[in-house]
Amino acid sequence: MPGGRAPTITDRIRLEEIFARFNFTDYRWIEATQIVVANWVRFKCIFGCSSYGKKGTCPPQVPPVEECRSFFSEYSDAVIFHFTKQVDSPEDRIPWSREVSKELIRLENEVFRSGYYKAFMLFMDECRFCVNCAGSREGCINKSDARPGPESLAVDVFSTVRSAGYPIEVLSDYNQEMNRYAFLMIE
Ligand code: SF4
Repeated sequence: MPGGRAPTITDRIRLEEIFARFNFTDYRWIEATQIVVANWVRFKCIFGCSSYGKKGTCPPQVPPVEECRSFFSEYSDAVIFHFTKQVDSPEDRIPWSREVSKELIRLENEVFRSGYYKAFMLFMDECRFCVNCAGSREGCINKSDARPGPESLAVDVFSTVRSAGYPIEVLSDYNQEMNRYAFLMIE
């Protein structure tokens, strides 16, 4: 039975069939230990991000950094899903992010139902399901589907995806193509 242990090669093939049903074709398997968790990421959330205190899946609505680190240590594997997009204006990113996240949470549910009871998705962005976020877990109107992005859990996305061979750069303009990454935690 799958779940509760590292996926075997056969398990991965079955899981990849599920990924394909969702048309998620650009992904890489990594060991969960490759996920870099760093305090500076949380500091960037607190000092410098306009979403701080306004989103139900962002700091300070998430656990402390050490608890995040501990969370990742409870998994053997992760799948990084890569998405690219070019937008004409910053607002265009929101509906795209919302649609991708809807599929990502459906995928998490499907993987869960296939036996991986620990399956947990980190969105490629902050939760964008609602036009006006309640700003807290208590007030969230979609508690079962809202998930944090990796940065919310103090993941150094730059270091982590680069170590997996994926591209990512700081963008200087919204016209440039974005490389965004979601993480499926699995064991
Ligand atoms: S589901 Fe809505 S209320 Fe809940 S975190 Fe996402 S945007 Fe906020």
